[in-house]
Amino acid sequence: AAEAPRRPIRELPAQLANQIAAGEVVERPASIVKELLENALDAGARRIEVTLEQGGVGLIRVRDDGGGIPAEELPLALRRHATSKLASSGELMRIRTLGFRGEALPSIASVARLDLASAPAGAPAAQLLHGQSEPSPAAHPPGTTVTVRDLFYNLPARRKFLRAEKTEFQHADELLRRLALARFDVGLAWSHNGKPVQQLQPALDLPAREQRLARLCGQAFVDAALRLDFPAGELRLSGWAALPTFSRAAADLQHWYVNGRLVRDKLLTHAARQAYQDVLYHGRQPAYVLYLDLPAELVDVNVHPAKAEVRFRDSRAVHDLVRRGLREVIASGSRAGGQGLDA
Ligand code: ADP
Ligand code: MG
Repeated sequence: AAEAPRRPIRELPAQLANQIAAGEVVERPASIVKELLENALDAGARRIEVTLEQGGVGLIRVRDDGGGIPAEELPLALRRHATSKLASSGELMRIRTLGFRGEALPSIASVARLDLASAPAGAPAAQLLHGQSEPSPAAHPPGTTVTVRDLFYNLPARRKFLRAEKTEFQHADELLRRLALARFDVGLAWSHNGKPVQQLQPALDLPAREQRLARLCGQAFVDAALRLDFPAGELRLSGWAALPTFSRAAADLQHWYVNGRLVRDKLLTHAARQAYQDVLYHGRQPAYVLYLDLPAELVDVNVHPAKAEVRFRDSRAVHDLVRRGLREVIASGSRAGGQGLDA
């Protein structure tokens, strides 16, 4: 077979390396929204405001009131593998922050136009980083604003894969709804094309939380939902699971959070499906919003570039807890007057 002439091994230029990393992390506007929100949460924000235009392709702006970035570190925030969240491989085994890879901002900056404005609490003035230029003074309240414009302006081939504005907005909106259920204590508002979409105040007590839940998942879900809180040693399963009578045709109301991180996990979904197996009609899907909390060293979050998948140290114990916890709550809810099939 004819072979292409060999070219010498070279290190990739930073911009190209970042674009390659962006291929894994930045699929569409919703992926950027997720990374920026995770950064705001990691910075301890109490209120986060998200502005979207043209489905997020034109503009995504995330403004938070978190701890901010010191002026001298601002340029580092855009450098690949630069992070304030991880300092040693020992720490890698017990990550408590949502981010740790130091890849999101440089990846995003390599496929869109990114501005970063930040004011750490107590700093005399905010600083603005605009593209590759030096930071300049700016007006900004304590916290950080990241503005991302013109996604894939420099990668027409990837821009072609973006869907209609409406579809991209739906993806971002769905993601924001899911993230809003990760942290009830944080106020979260978002708008699209100048119109407010949701304005969620911090929800501190149970009634306020269930109000937020109703806003995001529907009152019918909350009415059919059984609350559970199921400790098992170092593990804890909590949240809301709907009675089997509130089943769905699609698996669209199955939200999992592991240590506050929104995840997609086959093991968890499988355990939940088993718990509902005998009480759901064939082909129907259960509905739940569930939280699994466990010591950070019992779960590996460094499995997936977008950090959507996790690996459990003791997957058997996790599977058992979910199946048992859900079965118990469904059975007692059905006995207590719910209209479960076995009631
Ligand atoms: P990672 O989150 O994995 O550390 P990022 O590229 O997302 O990597 O962010 C790089 C660094 O920039 C973070 O470690 C953090 O120190 C800082 N940073 C990013 N966004 C914010 C924010 N909203 N508030 C405060 N610091 C931030
Ligand atoms: Mg991050």
